[in-house]
Amino acid sequence: MTDHSSEQRVALVTGASRGIGKAIALRLARDGRHVVLMARSADALAALEDELKAQGLAASHVASDVGDPKKLAADVEQMIKDRGRLDIIVNNAGVTKDNLTMRMTDEDFEDVLRINLTSAFVTARTACRAMMKNKFGRIVNIGSTSGVVGNAGQANYAAAKAGLIGLTRSLARELGGKGVTANVIAPGFIETDMTANLPEEVRKGVMGMMSLRRFGTPEDIAAAVSYVSSDDAGFLTGQVICVDGGMTMA
Ligand code: NAP
Repeated sequence: MTDHSSEQRVALVTGASRGIGKAIALRLARDGRHVVLMARSADALAALEDELKAQGLAASHVASDVGDPKKLAADVEQMIKDRGRLDIIVNNAGVTKDNLTMRMTDEDFEDVLRINLTSAFVTARTACRAMMKNKFGRIVNIGSTSGVVGNAGQANYAAAKAGLIGLTRSLARELGGKGVTANVIAPGFIETDMTANLPEEVRKGVMGMMSLRRFGTPEDIAAAVSYVSSDDAGFLTGQVICVDGGMTMA
């Protein structure tokens, strides 16, 4: 990807300790960004930071729980002070707490909204002034096809991911005039810890729905994030891009 800035762009990736977030962090670092890795597990982040630095790539890490809005805002603010800029935010941290609606507790509904949706609002609110001042910003929210077409057993998760679409499009309208874009990358089924325990019959059923007849890899998602967060994607905003092997074609 070609950057038009003489200074190295800084990218914050939440949920970077494993799975899709780790692949995104690796990809953005290879694209030439300084990547700030965020998740709860400090040890995993430190190990990834070492791995990136051993490859000559630029990285640092901040251990934070994105489900704690006050701490998250403070950590992002501090990070911007430390690095002097923040060009790219990838709101990737996410959890599922699946259950049929009739059995879902208030706590499981609210937790999933706070971790998957409120966190993206908080990082964008904290960083948008700095981005607008620099007349450049890329906000990439990792949604899900569940948020586009819904999914039985995921009322909380689908609501959070659908909420990300409204948040993203509002940010795109508010910030576009200052060179800041906001988009959703909505993965389908991707091989990570999150999908590792799906029963075999569910996997087979899902596979049949995908034109490409395979689960995605974290790298498939990272490639899409690489483009959407690049300088080259300056005319792309408010979009929901489903990277799902042709499952929804939404
Ligand atoms: P994963 O393997 O379970 O990894 C989740 C990541 O989020 C980890 O790095 C985890 O790190 C971090 N995280 C979780 N809760 C956190 C919290 N409260 N604060 C900070 N970090 C937190 O999940 P994944 O499959 O890579 O999913 C990544 C994103 O893609 C999620 O938003 C998910 O909804 C979305 N997605 C995944 C799929 C799929 O098929 N896998 C499909 C559609 C969308 P710590 O545990 O160290 O905090």
